[in-house]
Formats: sequence, C-alpha cells, structure tokens
Amino acid sequence: MARPVIAIVGRPNVGKSTIFNRVIGDRLAIVEDKPGVTRDRIYGTGEWSGRAFSIVDTGGIEIDGEDEIMKSVRMQAELAIEEADVIIFMVDAKAGMTHADDEVAQMLFRSHKPVVVAVNKVDNFNRMDDVYEFYGLGFGTPVAISGSHGTGIGDLLDAAIEKLPEQVDEVYDEDVIRVALIGRPNVGKSSLVNALLGEERVIVSDIAGTTRDAIDTPFERDGQKYVLIDTAGMRKRGKVYETTEKYSVMRSMKAIERADVVLILINGEEGIIDQDKHIAGYAHEAGKASVFVVNKWDVVEKDEKTMQLFTEDLRDNFLFMHYAPIVYLSAKTKQRLHKLLPVVNHVSEQHALRIQTHVLNDVISDAVAINPPPTDKGKRLRINYATQVATKPPTIVIFVNDPEIMHFSYERYLENKIRAAFNFDGTPVRLFTRRKS
Ligand code: GDP
Ligand code: GDP
Repeated sequence: MARPVIAIVGRPNVGKSTIFNRVIGDRLAIVEDKPGVTRDRIYGTGEWSGRAFSIVDTGGIEIDGEDEIMKSVRMQAELAIEEADVIIFMVDAKAGMTHADDEVAQMLFRSHKPVVVAVNKVDNFNRMDDVYEFYGLGFGTPVAISGSHGTGIGDLLDAAIEKLPEQVDEVYDEDVIRVALIGRPNVGKSSLVNALLGEERVIVSDIAGTTRDAIDTPFERDGQKYVLIDTAGMRKRGKVYETTEKYSVMRSMKAIERADVVLILINGEEGIIDQDKHIAGYAHEAGKASVFVVNKWDVVEKDEKTMQLFTEDLRDNFLFMHYAPIVYLSAKTKQRLHKLLPVVNHVSEQHALRIQTHVLNDVISDAVAINPPPTDKGKRLRINYATQVATKPPTIVIFVNDPEIMHFSYERYLENKIRAAFNFDGTPVRLFTRRKS
C-alpha cells in the first residue's frame, strides 16, 4: 500500500525543516530541537492517528541553476502540487503576510489541492492576532504552531490527515508483479520501459475511475502479468523537476512504495555514484525485492574481466544489498534483455516465499549446533524457536530467553545460514528477536 504524501511548502526561513524534523521524529512530543538543521533530509515517513504517510520538505529540493528565491519557492510549490496529496502551506507569524506568501497562495488555490495553512513561530499562544491575518489566504482556519516549542503540531497533523484522500486499495491482482524502475536521470529508464514493452500489446486496464492506469503500464509476457509503475513520470521529459536530483528521489520513493520488485538502474558507461546508493537504500529499507540492472552495456569497452570487475565494484558499493542479483544489458540494442524478466520472476517469488516453521527450525538448530550463541555478561543466549511471520519481505521472529544479549553478528550469522538454506535471492530478510513469553 502506498503511503499518501504530505508536502510542506513556503518561503525560506518560515520553519519548514524544523517542523519536518519534528514530524519524522519517532515520538513527536519529545523530539529535541535540532540546531543547524540538515538540508539533506527532505523525505521521511510518519504516522498520526493511525495513518501512515510520507512527508516532504520541498524547501530542501534544490532547483538547479535557480538563485532567485522566489522562483525556487514557486517551483517547489509546483512539485508539491504535482506530487502531494495534501499541502501544508507554512507562513511566519513574526514576519506577517508577505507578497511572496500571496503569490504561492494563488498557485495553491488554483491547483484545487487540499491545503492546510500552518502559521509558525507562534511562540506565545496569547498572541493569536498574528494568526488571524492568515485567514485571508482563503484556505480556512490556519493552524498556529511553534517549531521551537513543538506546540500545535498535533493539531496541524490532525488537519492534514483529515484532508487526506480515502485510502485507495491497490487495483492490481495478487498475481501481477509490480515493477518500479529507478535510477538517476539519463540512466535509461524510459529506454528500458520501451524495450520491455517492445512489440507486446499493451493491455489496457479496464479499471475505470482510477488514476493508476494513467501512470502505470501493464503488460504480459509468457503468461506472467506485470505492471510497470509510474511510467508516465518517465515520459514527462524536459520538465523542471526532471532536472533536479532530489526531485527524482522523491518520485522514486513513491514508485518504490508501490512496487514488488525494484529495478535499480546503473549506468554501465559511467559507473556508480552516490546518488545510486541513496536510491537503492530506499528500496532496501522499504523491504522490496531488488535487481541491479547495469544498462548501456553496449558502449562499455569489454574484455573477459570487465563484467567481473564491475560486479566486484558494485558489490563493494552496495554491501547492504548483497542479495540483489545483477543483470547486464543494453536497453538500446536489447542485448541480454531477455535475461531480465526471468530474474524479475525469480526475485518476486523469493520475496513472497514462506518457509514452514519446522523446516526453518531445523536450519536454526543446525546453525546453533555448529556455532553456539555467544554469552553476554555471563548469560548465554538461548534460542527457543523461530517462525516466519510475514512475506514481502520475508520476516522471521526468533524467540529467545533474552533479546538484549542477541548480538548483531550472531543475527547476521543466522541470516547467512537461513539464506544458505532458502536463498531468498533478491530480497531483504528481516529478523526480529523476541523474548519467549
Ligand atoms: P525553512 O527554511 O523554512 O526550512 O526554515 P527553518 O526550519 O530552517 O527555520 C528557519 C529559522 O526559524 C531557524 O533559525 C529556526 O530555528 C527558526 N524557527 C523555526 N521554528 C520557529 C518557531 O516556532 N519560533 C521561532 N521563534 N523560530 C523558529
Ligand atoms: P532516463 O532519463 O533514465 O529515462 O533515460 P533515457 O531512457 O531517456 O535514456 C537517456 C539516454 O541514454 C538516451 O539518449 C538513450 O538513447 C540512451 N540510452 C539508454 N539506454 C541505452 C543503452 O543501453 N545503450 C546506449 N548506448 N544508450 C542508451
């Protein structure tokens, strides 16, 4: 299920990142004020009143080549209008209403997106006069908040959640593999989409009234149904947000959320860069199956060692995703393209694999017999049993006498043994230890 997106929009210095950091903090009420707020973190997730959502600080989206502040703010608002389900429009009580606020307000107003006005820096709730002025923006009752004191944020989230659209259930059947293609601009995402669709007849979705079918592309191959997630985003080329790195991260996050299998495209010609790692990390954290696709392999000068060296480099750079298979291909010449879908099918199967409890426990017992659990502070870890509690990704709970003394390295040892027995190719495996009650 994809999480709805809340975007924070507003002039610089109104307190967007301060509020953003408070919202993504684990426990809203006790989050410390963070001086020198980092500009890196622009995307996070939160939960309020039982609704999970993702939240974006559009102020952190750098618009390349744009120095003029007002233009940046306008473009950030444009991104929010395009991507968000609800927009928090933040203004500054101390500064009062400015011309820039007015201009952004008009853009938001025309978009017909749900908007909540947050009046920040209301450090003293006795001085509500500063807030009433913002009624004039035309978005209903403004919510008074203080990023410094952490006040009003609950009310703000209440208002935002109330305006979220009803949760839409995924429109695709269980047997459809949802595939997202992610990677930096120009890596070849649109080319790969076209190559995959090839001559195949694109099956037109008959589900009316959804926007999903407008942005996703379903197709079928060898009896297996797939849907390529958010392919429309790849077609909207040349638009301003395509040129901003951080924006593509935002778009990728949404696509990853909705996917079963994530194809992480790497430019074989240029090699691996940091941005590739950030995006791949999201797929891992989101618990999706992943495949590395090294594209543009046609233009790489090769000898018999090239693929091996690239593989080693990739593994070094993505230690945390050792499980993801690598496919080398060319979207342009379609060289080795036929190798891709079988790998997608395989990791999708592994992602959904369910291991019977007794089989799992045989493996755990063997692992424990070969390499007994460590002692910690004179206490030995005792493993009672393990059971798989979820799939997509496979999630295993290990019941022990004392979870505190389960060491990270022993957990990794168990994961390796579990993988040695069941593969789980292409998928993260989540292990949790619980006290046996
Ligand atoms: P952004 O540019 O909109 O992301 O704004 P920041 O979150 O970076 O905040 C800009 C400045 O306003 C920082 O110096 C914050 O400490 C300050 N600030 C944020 N919230 C409040 C608040 O509620 N009251 C006061 N007085 N200052 C705040
Ligand atoms: P996107 O921004 O990730 O969607 O990338 P595109 O699919 O638009 O491709 C960017 C550029 O790379 C285009 O000029 C493509 O023709 C080129 N390209 C894509 N795939 C390949 C490939 O496998 N080999 C070569 N040589 N060029 C490619």
